[in-house]
Amino acid sequence: MPRRTVPDGEIPPARTENLGAAQVYIDGMEIELVRGTRRRKHVEAVLVGERLRVTFPHWMSAAQARETAEELRVRMQRRLDASRIDIVARARKLARDYDLPRPKTVTWSDQQQSRWGSCTPDLGAIRVSSRLAAFPSWVLDYVLVHELAHLVQRDHSPAFAALVARYPLAERARGFLIAKDLDPDDL
Ligand SMILES: [Zn+2]
Repeated sequence: MPRRTVPDGEIPPARTENLGAAQVYIDGMEIELVRGTRRRKHVEAVLVGERLRVTFPHWMSAAQARETAEELRVRMQRRLDASRIDIVARARKLARDYDLPRPKTVTWSDQQQSRWGSCTPDLGAIRVSSRLAAFPSWVLDYVLVHELAHLVQRDHSPAFAALVARYPLAERARGFLIAKDLDPDDL
């Protein structure tokens, strides 16, 4: 079956057997677990209004499906949080405020599991983890300033540290990331 993308809010046509559907709540978000037909090979998640409908392959156990649904819910929540923030405007303002180069592209990343952000100086490209969207804005700003400073200095030399120190809440933000059990130098 070809994979289709269903816009948020649109209820996809029924193509599941009438079995195995279950309503669960994970951290307040309503999740509808639907066991797919035998032809279904992948897990699919669609946001239907406020509810996340997760259709899972026939062979998958209910426990596995629930676990997968939880991962999808976290990712979906991050995407919702991120969609409320104009990350490009934010990075450009910080570049102006702290006299750093203007980036060419700034994008959210769902993939960065271990890193908060990354910078490709040759392309002027900055990527930040969508996990940051749920944190206080001054923490996100710190990570952006850190990546903007890499457009000038690739390493974490004292010269680099001096650029980042232009951001007044840098130390506080580093403390916040440490408290989240993450290495603030892993940027
Ligand atoms: Zn760095």
